Amino acid sequence: MESNKKNMNFDAVIVGGGIAGLQSALDLADQDFKVAIIEKDASIGGKMIRLSKVFPTLDCASCITTPKMAAAAHHPNITLFTYCDLISLGNENGSVIAEVRQKPRYVDPAKCIGCRQCEYNCPVMVPDEEQGGFSARKAIYIPFSNAIPQIALMDIENCSLCGKCSKVCPTQAVDYFQQPEEFTITAKTAVVATGFRLTPLDQKKEYGQGKVQNVITSLQMERLLAPHGPYMRVLRPSDGKEPESIAYVQCAGSRDKSLGIPYCSRVCCMYAIKQAILLSGALPLADITIYYMDIRAFGKGYEQFFQNAKAMGIEFVKAKVAKIEQGEDQNVLIKYEAQEEDGGVRTREHDLVVLSLGMIPEWNPEGTCRISTGSDNFVKTIKPKLAPCLTDIDGVFVAGVAAGPKDIVDTIAEAGAAAMEASKYLHSLGLKKKMAA
Ligand SMILES: Cc1cc2nc3c(=O)[nH]c(=O)nc-3n(C[C@H](O)[C@H](O)[C@H](O)COP(=O)(O)OP(=O)(O)OC[C@H]3O[C@@H](n4cnc5c(N)ncnc54)[C@H](O)[C@@H]3O)c2cc1C
Repeated sequence: MESNKKNMNFDAVIVGGGIAGLQSALDLADQDFKVAIIEKDASIGGKMIRLSKVFPTLDCASCITTPKMAAAAHHPNITLFTYCDLISLGNENGSVIAEVRQKPRYVDPAKCIGCRQCEYNCPVMVPDEEQGGFSARKAIYIPFSNAIPQIALMDIENCSLCGKCSKVCPTQAVDYFQQPEEFTITAKTAVVATGFRLTPLDQKKEYGQGKVQNVITSLQMERLLAPHGPYMRVLRPSDGKEPESIAYVQCAGSRDKSLGIPYCSRVCCMYAIKQAILLSGALPLADITIYYMDIRAFGKGYEQFFQNAKAMGIEFVKAKVAKIEQGEDQNVLIKYEAQEEDGGVRTREHDLVVLSLGMIPEWNPEGTCRISTGSDNFVKTIKPKLAPCLTDIDGVFVAGVAAGPKDIVDTIAEAGAAAMEASKYLHSLGLKKKMAA
């Protein structure tokens, strides 16, 4: 259920409505604890709902994430606070206090019935960030087809104030004067599940700083491969050509001291192999090359997945890519140092290049929360071996990529562990109360 925005008390507050936050929330709510989820985006689901298929099973990401999102939204013990900024989070005298700012949607959530009449009648088109910027959305819109909640929001920066949305809305939900609202959630425990974003492109001069045509990010490729993607097929963005030669550049923004990101992001090898397998199905005649330093296929069934990709004819070139440049005919030139055979610096041309970007934390707690972070900027876990969800704030736990790069399997397992730590903590508080009485 969607909250009516009154300040409320809960047993647990979860920051982040990605797959980690949803799993922790469901595990706690099933034990009859009252849970609030605070999500900064207009929909829950995190990155997973934006993926095409998932390694190593190749399940459709949307098909397995949507039921979790719906289960959380309809759970009687869970309240969603979407499109909300976290102003502060801390433990004061045994209570976890989260101060939250509801950003204005310019649509009254209590009135919106998700009919999309506003969206259909809006005349403004802007690039759709949910589709990697490859297609357009309206200035008033529901973020994507299976977004939860199905409530429209207005992008006021791009709105032309023509009033058409307001005229066609059958429930008079459009409210141009909506203001941000601040409220406090008081709980006894919290789980931080704020996830990641991709390493930014603009720092890496050698890779064109995002300016070379037909060099895209791995999340953009997820959208090109998704069943509800922007083109419903794989086309290169600059001219709509079906690519005949696609390259992946591994460790683009991980294991790179020059960017201050010396760690391995753990999922890039596997997602590149997954995308390459999916591309060989979508474009059977295309050549697919993966430039890699080494392949880290560490999980259950992952090595076999890698071997399958090789058997399917995907080319693996052991090399360090030194430069990515604009070639002729909107193609991309890759200059690399070969680390096999006789070595040496070589150049190859591809129609489309995908950067396998690493992960950095989405949330920077500075100024919001006194939780400690490690040298990698992810939330620090104080007992990383034996209790990997414990942070240095009593009653505040961490789950998923908020604590460090990991895949969905490990994220789900850790979210369950964080819920169990939070549940134990809640029971210990109850016990303390009983003993004091
Ligand atoms: C291109 C790509 C492909 C991938 N493919 C696969 C795959 O096939 N199989 C696999 O196992 N893994 C895959 N992964 C990894 C997978 O995406 C992650 O393991 C998973 O999404 C982690 O979930 P999470 O909930 O920890 O983080 P996220 O999905 O990042 O969710 C975090 C949520 O917290 C919200 N949030 C952040 N900060 C705040 C804040 N301050 N206040 C409120 N809310 C906040 C965010 O908006 C988001 O909704 C892939 C990753 C990439 C980049």
